[in-house]
Amino acid sequence: MMLSGKHAIVTGGGTGIGLAIARALVSEGAQVTITGRRMEVLEQVAEPGMFPMVMDVTDESQIVGVTAEAVAARGPIQICVANAGIAEGKKLHKTSSEFWRKIMSTNLDGCFYTVRESLKSMMTTDWGRVIAVSSIAGVRGSAGAGAYAASKHGVIGMIRSFAEDFLGEPYTFNSICPGYVDTPIVTRNTDSISQRAGVSEQEARDMMINLNRHKRLITPEEIGAAALWLCNPLSESTNGTEVLIGGGQV
Ligand code: NDP
Repeated sequence: MMLSGKHAIVTGGGTGIGLAIARALVSEGAQVTITGRRMEVLEQVAEPGMFPMVMDVTDESQIVGVTAEAVAARGPIQICVANAGIAEGKKLHKTSSEFWRKIMSTNLDGCFYTVRESLKSMMTTDWGRVIAVSSIAGVRGSAGAGAYAASKHGVIGMIRSFAEDFLGEPYTFNSICPGYVDTPIVTRNTDSISQRAGVSEQEARDMMINLNRHKRLITPEEIGAAALWLCNPLSESTNGTEVLIGGGQV
């Protein structure tokens, strides 16, 4: 088992992409702390090898406390997957500062705190992987979702820079950038995209599907497989970069 004895943390690990990544890591023997705001959701999906903990990524003190507890229980975190995020969109003239802060504090600040706190224990070990879940919206503009795209561009810049900070050390830092993946976020967004674009929900879903050259939504398991690859010893030269999984969209 490639990850036997390794402790991983996956934020937003109770649903969608995070859960698929947690399952992939467990399948290779990792012990995975899965976090989110709802214990009932985490407990429902947790399988052997997964350890649910409530942690709101907008609250720095919770991240500090929960990470320390997880490390005390399962040892240093050697795989950190900063995945928790929200995807809501508004056009520029409708973007209030409160809305902007909500997106940034979850997607960007949350990623920063998560990676920083995990790194403290990772640095006591001789191997580590940091994976942030950004988005295709992190490498190009996204109509009606400027705050979301800015937060995901920020994740990429931050992760590239952290990789520079630790060049030559046995830790890698990469972002995964998915296109539309079949998860609760997309289900929720279909409604808001249809309203913004003035089309039916079915047409909004078709728009997402048609952006993918395979004419389908991406599966969460495809993202889990990419995360697992980034934990493979043979991925060490993949550092400070992005893995784009957009179905040929970019
Ligand atoms: P989900 O809605 O299933 O996952 C989002 C997860 O983040 C949930 O588990 C949620 O748990 C958690 N979360 C949200 N806010 C917070 C918070 N404040 N504190 C702690 N946890 C939080 O959707 P996805 O799996 O699709 O999304 C996962 C990531 O993938 C996100 O960062 C998203 O931006 C990114 N992404 C998704 C794409 C897609 O098409 N699905 C495309 C590109 C990127 P809870 O609500 O219980 O706290």
